[in-house]
Amino acid sequence: MTLKIVSLFPDVLGTYGDHGNARILAHLLHLAGRSYELIAVGINDPVPADGDLYLLGGGEDGPQALAARRLAEGSPLHRVVERDRPILAICAGYQLLGRSFVAEGTTLPGLGLLPVESVRGSARMVGEVLLTPFVPIGQSLMTGFENHGGQTILDSDAQPLGRVYRGVGNGGDGYDGIVHGSIIGSYLHGPILARNPGLAQWLLARIGVEAHELSHHHWALHEERVHASEGALWSRQHGA
Ligand code: GLN
Repeated sequence: MTLKIVSLFPDVLGTYGDHGNARILAHLLHLAGRSYELIAVGINDPVPADGDLYLLGGGEDGPQALAARRLAEGSPLHRVVERDRPILAICAGYQLLGRSFVAEGTTLPGLGLLPVESVRGSARMVGEVLLTPFVPIGQSLMTGFENHGGQTILDSDAQPLGRVYRGVGNGGDGYDGIVHGSIIGSYLHGPILARNPGLAQWLLARIGVEAHELSHHHWALHEERVHASEGALWSRQHGA
């Protein structure tokens, strides 16, 4: 069986390099000896609803609003969720899956697939992020970088992805992201799966792929970014 990995709109939601997540998954599928197809769907292309794993990245407000409108047509992602297939949505992608978000000063409807609302924060949130994840991904820390003006408010019974140890994440609640059914939302660029290969393995396990054992090469970026972040945190706390 050929697994279909669907990267949505890398042409407009690729500002922060999140299409790299698709490349990491393709690499791990190759190592695992699995047959796969990587489908990069452009903003004017039809969106397939029969994929096995979906990726949405981050971008500026205008492209984000456009992507939300495209995904509202025929609701392909609602059918993906009904089939319990995973969706990894980063930043703009995360915001547009909620009930509403703000783009260029206007509150717009999201797809309503996540129990969240995104509003404008008081200042843009930019920088390195470290999280302690709540999902069992075989990592005690997750690393990424954030760059967003919106902040996301989760319903009180929703499950965040992790506790923020450095950086902002959702904004205000001390957490980043969400785990909601088959959807993972997060503010972490990086790309998140390159910096956190345990999350890539965990996502692949959800579509029945036992990923090949990872080597120290796969963990090198994760370790380098965690050390860089922890070093900066230490310097700030100690006035160095
Ligand atoms: N345009 C959104 C915001 O600024 C998302 C940004 C992003 O995807 N990095 O909040």
